[in-house]
Amino acid sequence: MSNLTKIPSNKKCWQYLNNIVFTDELSCPVCSSQLQENYLRRYLWCRICRKKYRATSYKGSWLYGMKISPRQLFCLLWCWQKKKSTEAIITAVGVSYPTVTRWLTRFRDQLPDTTPLLEGIVKADESYFSKLRSKQNKYILTGAVTDNIGEEPTLALRITGDHQTGRKQEVLESFIEDTVTPGSLVVTDKWYGYQDLPLIGYYHQSHNHSKGDYSQTNRIEGVWSVLKRHSRKLYGGRILTHQLEDLCIEWMARVNRKELFKSPIEFLTYTLVPF
Ligand SMILES: [Zn+2]
Repeated sequence: MSNLTKIPSNKKCWQYLNNIVFTDELSCPVCSSQLQENYLRRYLWCRICRKKYRATSYKGSWLYGMKISPRQLFCLLWCWQKKKSTEAIITAVGVSYPTVTRWLTRFRDQLPDTTPLLEGIVKADESYFSKLRSKQNKYILTGAVTDNIGEEPTLALRITGDHQTGRKQEVLESFIEDTVTPGSLVVTDKWYGYQDLPLIGYYHQSHNHSKGDYSQTNRIEGVWSVLKRHSRKLYGGRILTHQLEDLCIEWMARVNRKELFKSPIEFLTYTLVPF
């Protein structure tokens, strides 16, 4: 699916949901006989059990109570996966602002916590994110990403504090200790907060950003630029604590569990519990 118009019809989306939850054979969860589709009334019928089933309300599904159409669900998912702005989603899907934010939160709630343990060559850095309604107070986001030849990158992120506390040696060290395997090589800038990494079991290499030497840490610099662009699209660049926390989980999943962001069907297959 390269754009929204390629998303299948409402009936097809409804059938995809049924197949994910009740298998390709549409088996009844109780007697395994084949369920009959009633698209007009949006349910599946088991002739043996004489019971109705719905993919969106089966066994505590996170889609329970869904009021949007199956095609709208697929469109919302696709827009979220492709990092569309909130305004663009409202226009494309034809739903209200609260509906978009509610569904994006629901999608994020399904993401696994993918905080990884990084190994090998790891590049670490901090970046500023602006708080809402605040002139000076900023969040410090600290990140570490692997850079091993022939390997997909793995990303760890944490809000380490505000502009006064977020770059202190002890918070940076505990972030590295929690997310990087001892014995790894940690590459950073010259910030003093990283200088004692060899004392806690890491190899350390530092480069001078003030001299314009960004080449050694550019993988993490790249993470900041995409993250900031995405956060501006969603929240206009100013962000609340819980929004930034959710965005960190989403961003780790975007890097560490790429398959969840490939297509609506893949996301639903991973997150809907089949019977
Ligand atoms: Zn049955």
